Amino acid sequence: MDMSGKTDKGILLVVSGPSGAGKGTICSAIRELYPDLHYSVSMTTREPRKCEVEGESYFFRTKEQFEQLIKEDAFLEYAKVYDNYYGTPKKYVLDLIDKGQSVLLEIDIQGAMQVKKRYPTGVFIYIVPPSLNVLSGRLHNRGTDSEEVIQKRLAQITSELAMAHQYDYIVVNDILEDAVHKTSAILEAEKCKLSHN
Ligand code: 5GP
Repeated sequence: MDMSGKTDKGILLVVSGPSGAGKGTICSAIRELYPDLHYSVSMTTREPRKCEVEGESYFFRTKEQFEQLIKEDAFLEYAKVYDNYYGTPKKYVLDLIDKGQSVLLEIDIQGAMQVKKRYPTGVFIYIVPPSLNVLSGRLHNRGTDSEEVIQKRLAQITSELAMAHQYDYIVVNDILEDAVHKTSAILEAEKCKLSHN
């Protein structure tokens, strides 16, 4: 505990929301603003996209390798998202938090809810698009996914939006700069909070 009465543990910042809501863009901006904030690189069984780099974008693994790690309880959370596994390496994240370092997770909603159960003192932010039309436009403009994948993602979103009340904060990503500003304001406020544990 330091002079302010705060505990020595770091903040686990969990940013989540439907794909296309803009959480990736917001997280990139937050990482630039806070170079000391550790970013947890997830593991996935999905194929790498063009420009994605092993160990930076994701750790790309086979389904067999991933399932072995599930057996070893190596994940803080994992989920099947659109037919592929995605997971957060547990040891990396919890060791940093214990050392007083803060960690950013950018994960889907199922994963965020698992983290909330295992680590309720985390800070949970839900990024939402201003509307479904905007979201559909963003998924198409991104040009990274097939029409079939986009339709699958859009179909899932209505049910995901109903999960919003489980989070600590909701940030509507209408104007990107505003959404980044709000997210960093949340982080600043959390740093001043008396206890995370
Ligand atoms: P993408 O395939 O577009 O990179 O990611 C698909 C979805 O998986 C996104 O919503 C992304 O945030 C989520 N995701 C990425 N890493 C993880 C993770 O470690 N755990 C969970 N549960 N979801 C993740």
